[in-house]
Amino acid sequence: MVDIQNKLEPDSAVYKTLLESTKAIPWKIDWGTMQFAYIGPQIEALLGWTPASWVTVGDWASRMHPEDREWVVNFCVAQSQAGVDHEADYRALTHDGRYVWIRDVVHVVRNADGTVNSLIGFMFDISERKRTEHQLITLQKELEELSFRDGLTGVANRRRFDALMELEWSNARRNRQPLSLIMLDIDYFKQYNDCYGHLEGDICLKRVARMLTSAATRARDLLARFGGEEFVLVLPETDEAAARMLAERCRELILGEQIPHERSSISPVLTISLGVGTVIPGHDDELLPFIDTVDKRLYEAKQRGRNCIVAR
Ligand code: GH3
Ligand code: MG
Ligand code: MG
Repeated sequence: MVDIQNKLEPDSAVYKTLLESTKAIPWKIDWGTMQFAYIGPQIEALLGWTPASWVTVGDWASRMHPEDREWVVNFCVAQSQAGVDHEADYRALTHDGRYVWIRDVVHVVRNADGTVNSLIGFMFDISERKRTEHQLITLQKELEELSFRDGLTGVANRRRFDALMELEWSNARRNRQPLSLIMLDIDYFKQYNDCYGHLEGDICLKRVARMLTSAATRARDLLARFGGEEFVLVLPETDEAAARMLAERCRELILGEQIPHERSSISPVLTISLGVGTVIPGHDDELLPFIDTVDKRLYEAKQRGRNCIVAR
């Protein structure tokens, strides 16, 4: 059997050729002088700095993104002092002022007495991997964002409403602030679909959502699509009178838009019915019964003839 190791060992030219033909960039730092003993010529192709320009560890540190420099240098020095092999990802500065993501994998070489002799390592170009990572993170954020949005109207969906409502409920309880809720439902929307078709119905829903969004103007107000043609407005720190006024504004906005609805039994244009509720949650109060109360008021508004508001 051929002993490869024995054959290669005396031939440092072979090692050198191997080292300098890999994509990874080999280097060596002498621990005593903190100077580069060696860096592979591939470094120039990657970063644009000639091998001869890598003299001290200072050169290495200065060619690093300012945001990465401190933790990377501290980490690498501490690990080296402790004699622990390590690796670090950072952005290396190129000669023409760009940054390239590098993974530096470091092996600590010790003397017979255990003290650190030198560091040898490889730099890997990981910019492609980082780009993919970044794209994945962006995609993940977009997906998260989408999962809280209603696909048709673009307003918050039921999931988002449930989560936010819980949060606002605890806020209101803690700060003893009123929390108001408006639930509204389009009148005779089944007939609207029957008359104009489902696609027109969708367009109408988008339009209603847009108008309702414009009605609630405070930063923490939230409009969500509660179900089919039913929307809900969450109004933190809003008392009963203000909530009632906003409900009236919504009713008038939709009415004023004069969206034809010839099959409606109560009006030639599209109308909505609304239920309004306000609570300063005490410790015995619960969220679901509150939502249920407002929902019942919406139902009552339907009973009373629609295109109206029931607030109490
Ligand atoms: P009411 O005045 O009592 O609310 O009568 P309504 O016909 O509006 O009430 P109902 O809840 O019985 O019907 C709601 C209709 O809304 C039924 C359904 O076809 C329609 N709808 C629900 N979601 C959508 C949607 O995404 N697009 C369209 N075009 N229609 C929808
Ligand atoms: Mg309806
Ligand atoms: Mg409905």
